[in-house]
Amino acid sequence: MFSQWRRRFTKPHAYSIRTHPMPTRPRPKLNLRILLLAFALIAAFSTLANTFWVMLSTQRAELIENALQTNEAYAARVADSLEGVLASDLDRLRYAATSIGESFTDQRSLTKEAHRLLSQDRSFNSVLIANAEGKVVVSAPDSMRLDGRLLQDRLPLSKREPMISDAFQSLADHLVVFVSHPVFGPNKQYLGLVGGSIRLEQKNTIQALMDLNVREDGAYIFLVDSQRRILYHPDPKRIGDVLIDNRLVDAALAHSNGSIQALNESSNEVLAGYARIPSSNWGVVSQQPLASIQASLMTTAKRVAKGVAPLGLFGLLMVWWIGRKISVPLSCLAENARRLDAPECYERITAIPTDYIESWQIRRALLLAANLLQEKIGRLNLEAQSDPLTGLTNRRGMDEAIGLWQETLKSFAVISVDIDHFKVVNDTYGHGVGDETLREVARLMKQASRPDDLVCRIGGEEFVLLLPNSTTSVAAEVAERLRAVVASAQFDTVGHLTISLGVAIWKTGESVTATFEKADQLLYRAKSLGRNRVVCENINLQIAG
Ligand code: GH3
Ligand code: MG
Ligand code: MG
Repeated sequence: MFSQWRRRFTKPHAYSIRTHPMPTRPRPKLNLRILLLAFALIAAFSTLANTFWVMLSTQRAELIENALQTNEAYAARVADSLEGVLASDLDRLRYAATSIGESFTDQRSLTKEAHRLLSQDRSFNSVLIANAEGKVVVSAPDSMRLDGRLLQDRLPLSKREPMISDAFQSLADHLVVFVSHPVFGPNKQYLGLVGGSIRLEQKNTIQALMDLNVREDGAYIFLVDSQRRILYHPDPKRIGDVLIDNRLVDAALAHSNGSIQALNESSNEVLAGYARIPSSNWGVVSQQPLASIQASLMTTAKRVAKGVAPLGLFGLLMVWWIGRKISVPLSCLAENARRLDAPECYERITAIPTDYIESWQIRRALLLAANLLQEKIGRLNLEAQSDPLTGLTNRRGMDEAIGLWQETLKSFAVISVDIDHFKVVNDTYGHGVGDETLREVARLMKQASRPDDLVCRIGGEEFVLLLPNSTTSVAAEVAERLRAVVASAQFDTVGHLTISLGVAIWKTGESVTATFEKADQLLYRAKSLGRNRVVCENINLQIAG
């Protein structure tokens, strides 16, 4: 019978909290602010990089196009000027040829004419007159000592027309070009030729003209003959070199005018313009390194970057600020969501600023959740602290109250109560009636106590009354009132019942356990003295019914 009761009394609570298993995924390391910042940075930088790239590539294409056009125009202008110089050289020779054609046998007038030509405007470094067989009859200056020697280049003799030669090694062993005009007699018979040579390594009219066109930024002009030999180059050491396998020269000699991006003779990528000189079949190439474009692009890029930087910085600050505005409420809400059971969480959550709708919604949801949770916790606390049979405070509730009272009260009374011969009730009428009787006793005890008193059921038919701030005499009075109420009560089925009570007082600094033990001892004393009585500590009070 007893074990049956114990099973019933100690069965698990009917209520339970329905829980879900916590997900076991690891806690992420990134937080919202870092994510927002990273997102904004990536977006800003990719847009900026894209704009930069499009701008620079457009600019690059434009600069290249401009450079090609400039070089083409430059080469064409220089070719025109050279054409003009060569035409005036030929003019001078034509004039001389006409004049000596009438007196070709007069050595003196030939010599005079040769010297006049030489000194006229320093177009030629040397002048010679040769007869139809190609033998030099007169030459100037005299130091050349060419008289009587045969011309190496026979082409002008056979062609018998004005000619501008390619570069060759002269009789005097200089690298020269030879400009010649045929000489005809009064009867149009061919007498020979008059010609001037231009020494390429020396100051000459071609070089003077080319030197006028010196360019900057690594850009320069060079001149080649139809045999690809360099006639002019800003680096004098290069004059005379033959440029084989050079696309610039190929283009200059093959077409009239144009531009090209190719490797130059030093294997550097260049942007070049070229032009051909029709009278001599020479080619002019004006070129500039592609690197000069890159340099000017870099300057533009730096300028743009400098212009964009302050606004970019401002943008970044704005992103940081907005990121903070978005993430701070969320992280505060997340932080507080971990402690929804804390009573002060309402104030904390309410104080979180929510400037945008989602954070406002989350805050509202959290407040609702906190409300529900705390309501449930309150209910559970109440249930956990009550005795299900009588509704009185159970041992756990009593312990909690005592813990609190120890901190806040100076004293309280402990009244230990035990029903007399209760076993008989059970044995006689069964447990059902026994339980009903217990409920009734509990009701009477509750009725007889004050609102601040705590009435507890701590065992089968054992009760404890705790009276805060109570003296022994007051507690004794309450105990006696209780005893009398029960003793005079009429219980259904059972009829009459009595209880025995022991009264002890706890004071600050004393042991609560000792006080309870004392109350129990006094209760046993009451039992041994015949039951249905109150036994109090310190006062010799034994109130018997
Ligand atoms: P005493 O005067 O010496 O106290 O005699 P008693 O019979 O009351 O002895 P005791 O206090 O030891 O009684 C315990 C009995 O109380 C045993 C059991 O039958 C009864 N009891 C304890 N808890 C419950 C309960 O929850 N319900 C019922 N119906 N009976 C209980
Ligand atoms: Mg008992
Ligand atoms: Mg008893």
